[in-house]
Amino acid sequence: MTMKRIFKPNFKKAENAAIELHSIAKTKELPVKVRKMDKFFDDLTIKKYSWYAKEWEMTLEEVIEYLGSDEGCCFYLKQFDSYLILYNENIDTNERIRWTIAHELGHYMLKHNTKSKRAILGRGGLSDEEYDMYEKEANCFARNLLAPPVAVTNLNVFSTDSLIHICKISLEAANNTYNFYDNGFRMGKTYNTTSKIGRQFSGFLNKVNNNKRCDNCEMNFSIKNSNYCVVCGSGNISHNYLIKGEDADMIYPGYATNGNHKPITCPRCENEEININGNYCSTCGFYLLNTCTNNLHDQSCTDDPMPTNIRFCPYCGAQSTYYYNGLLVNWEQIKFPERNKEDPFASNNTPIYISEDELPF
Ligand SMILES: [Zn+2]
Ligand SMILES: [Zn+2]
Ligand SMILES: [Zn+2]
Ligand SMILES: [Zn+2]
Repeated sequence: MTMKRIFKPNFKKAENAAIELHSIAKTKELPVKVRKMDKFFDDLTIKKYSWYAKEWEMTLEEVIEYLGSDEGCCFYLKQFDSYLILYNENIDTNERIRWTIAHELGHYMLKHNTKSKRAILGRGGLSDEEYDMYEKEANCFARNLLAPPVAVTNLNVFSTDSLIHICKISLEAANNTYNFYDNGFRMGKTYNTTSKIGRQFSGFLNKVNNNKRCDNCEMNFSIKNSNYCVVCGSGNISHNYLIKGEDADMIYPGYATNGNHKPITCPRCENEEININGNYCSTCGFYLLNTCTNNLHDQSCTDDPMPTNIRFCPYCGAQSTYYYNGLLVNWEQIKFPERNKEDPFASNNTPIYISEDELPF
């Protein structure tokens, strides 16, 4: 008597394999850099179909025919005991390419080639049940890799739209992912940020969940409990989950620092010999850290140093010490430079652009 093998996808295993890959890659933010995942393994290389075509002097059509897929494949090379993930870079969207690579990484991480004893996983030679099992596991893996549940379900805005923009996945994948995690919630599943994988994404979650965008000056910044725009002082700020906003975001310059909000040169007298331990300029005596002026008056607000481009306190809306002392120009002069061409009182103080990393907090 022969026993019929039962092929049932193991979703828990696929989910854990994605967590394992995030742990190996020390992923801290989204979107996940799937194309670069091969650098963490000695036996894995990720290449485009065009590379393979050139290498073997084949046409793209021949590559598709040979690999049995017009999207991608995970190829086990027995002679080298290593894996080659190939993806068709001509697929119409970047989002679909990302999913394909993540899916193939699933086959790699879950050792499907070994299990199926196939150099290339394909329908050929496998029963439908067995093939479908590998495919379902690889898709589950891809979902958990590109949209880690602990990261996306703990976003203030968990929606199909936020999944599309934050995870860089297609609308179809975002819909499926959203419904899948949402069903999980209904069944009592929780994704705790205190887990190991949760802690990996905690900085990212803080940043996204506290991110605001000003409707007035279009500044994008991430400060917890902020009530006012740090550049124009407007209370008209709204939550915005796109950290590095799109092109519409304005960059408002401040002064170059050595990383702890302390400027490299004194913004008032341009003295370069700033004592790293002291907070006052040794030449003109200026307090070098940008803080809330309300705190200077009556200690009613925070004395935390703020980035050097901040003009208004995010908590109370008072002017910052830099802005109060005329060291930063009004936001409108940056947003609408053509307006102050004829203005004889416009500041001729040209602030230094600070690095991307310092903007905003
Ligand atoms: Zn597959
Ligand atoms: Zn503003
Ligand atoms: Zn000075
Ligand atoms: Zn304040």
